[in-house]
Amino acid sequence: MDIEDSSKKKSMRNVLEKYERCGLKHKNDKLAVYMVEICNLKFYSYVFGYEESYILFKSIFKRIKEKLQEKFYIFEFMNCRFVILAANLNSNDIDKMKKDISDICEEKFYIKNREATVHLKIGISLYPDDSNNLLEVLRYSDVALSYAKENNKMKYQFFQKFMYNEILRKQIVINEIGNALKKKELILFYQPQINLKNMEVYGFEALIRWKHPKRGILSPMFFIDIIEENGMINDVGKFVVYEACRQLQQWHNLGYPNICMSINISESQIDGEEFLDFVKVVLNKTGVETKFLIFEITERIVIGLDEKKLKLIEKLKDMGIRIFIDDFGTKYSNLDYLNAMPVDGIKIDKSFIDKLENSQKDLMITKSVVKLAHELKLEVIAEGVEDQKQLKCLLNMKCSKIQGFIFEKPIPPNEVCKFMTNFKA
Ligand code: C2E
Ligand code: CA
Ligand code: CA
Repeated sequence: MDIEDSSKKKSMRNVLEKYERCGLKHKNDKLAVYMVEICNLKFYSYVFGYEESYILFKSIFKRIKEKLQEKFYIFEFMNCRFVILAANLNSNDIDKMKKDISDICEEKFYIKNREATVHLKIGISLYPDDSNNLLEVLRYSDVALSYAKENNKMKYQFFQKFMYNEILRKQIVINEIGNALKKKELILFYQPQINLKNMEVYGFEALIRWKHPKRGILSPMFFIDIIEENGMINDVGKFVVYEACRQLQQWHNLGYPNICMSINISESQIDGEEFLDFVKVVLNKTGVETKFLIFEITERIVIGLDEKKLKLIEKLKDMGIRIFIDDFGTKYSNLDYLNAMPVDGIKIDKSFIDKLENSQKDLMITKSVVKLAHELKLEVIAEGVEDQKQLKCLLNMKCSKIQGFIFEKPIPPNEVCKFMTNFKA
C-alpha cells in the first residue's frame, strides 16, 4: 500500500468515526455517500499559494454546508475533497442535492479580490446497495468520482460494478506491463488469411498477446489502449514489426515462400524518420522482401494524416510495403478519400460481415464498397468471417481474401506450419 492509499484509508475511517459521533448508526440506515472533488483547486494553489487555496476550500465547504438539508453530513476528506453522507434519502432529496451543488458551481468565490470559479465533480455510491461495508462504499464513491473525472461532460456519476473492474484492470496493467516486454511476456499469434481464388494461404495477421504469468494469455483488448496512452506502444510496436518479419522470413525459408504478413501499426509509431530507419534495419537484419509486408493502419489515422505522416507513408510505399486501411467502414461513410489516400487495400470490418445476412440493404452497402475498392484497384480482405453464408455472399461479390474464425482463429507460431501443410492438403 503506498502513502496515498494509507492516508486515504485513515481519512475514510475518520469520516466514519465522525459520522457515528453525529449519533447515527449506519447499520440501520440506507446511506448515500457523495465524494466531491474541487477539480481546479490545485490550479488555484499554484496561482495564489497553498494558504489562499485552503481558504477557498473552506469557503466552498461552508457554502455547501449551509445549503445542505439537515440529513446531510459533510466532512473534509484529503486535500481538495469532501465527503457528504446522507441517510434514508428519497429521489427528491437526491435531485435537490444535485441542484444545490450545480448552483455552487455557478456562484462566485474570491481569492485576494480575484474571482475564482469552482469546478466540482461528484462520485456517488449507496449503502447497502453497492456494498454492506461502509468503508467499501466510500471507496466505490471514489471510483465513481474518478470515472466522472475521465468523462468531461459528467458532473455526477453513480457507482456501477463495471467501473471498479475497469479500474482494477487498468491498475494491474499499468503496474505490470512495464516489465512485460523485458520479461518476454509479449508474444505474437498469427491468424491466416485465405485466398479463395486459388484456395491458398495468402498470409497472416500478426496479433499481439500478453502471456501473463498468473492470468494466462491476455487479449490486446485488455491492454492495447493503455499502452497507447502511456507511450509504451512505440517499443511494443517495434518488437511486433521485428518479430513478425523474423518469423515471416523463417516460414519463407521453411518452404512457404509466398506468404504475406500483415502488421498493425499505431498512430504514434508513424511519427518521423526514426520509424522508417527502424523498418530499414529490420528488413536488413531479417532479409524479408517488402512485397510480402502489409502495414495496417486504421481509418481514423488515415483521415487525420498530416503532411509529415503522409510523406512517411509514401516513403514506406516507395520501399514496396503495402498500406491497408484496417476496420474499414467503422468510422466514416465518405468513400472519396479512398481515392486520395496512398493506400493499397482495405480490410472490411467485421461489423459489415455480421450484417450481410440481415437485409438486402446491408448486403448492397458492402457490395458497393467492394466494387468501388476493386474499381480503384485496391485489394480487399474481409475480416471476421464466421460462417458459410457470409462466405458465399462475399464470393458472390468477388471478395476472395478472407480472414476469420471460419478458417482459423489467431494461433501461436508453432502451429502455423502445421496449418499451412494441412490447408494445402
Ligand atoms: P484488428 O486489427 O481488427 O484484428 C482483428 C481482430 O478480430 C483480432 O482480435 C482477431 O482475433 C479478431 N477476429 C478475427 N476473425 C474473427 C472472427 O471470425 N470472429 C471474431 N469474433 N473475431 C475475429 P484480437 O487479436 O483480440 O485483436 C484486437 C485488436 O487489437 C486488433 O484488432 C488490433 O486493433 C489490436 N492489435 C492486435 N495486435 C496489435 C499490434 O501488434 N499492434 C497494435 N497497434 N494493435 C494491435
Ligand atoms: Ca488489424
Ligand atoms: Ca480489423
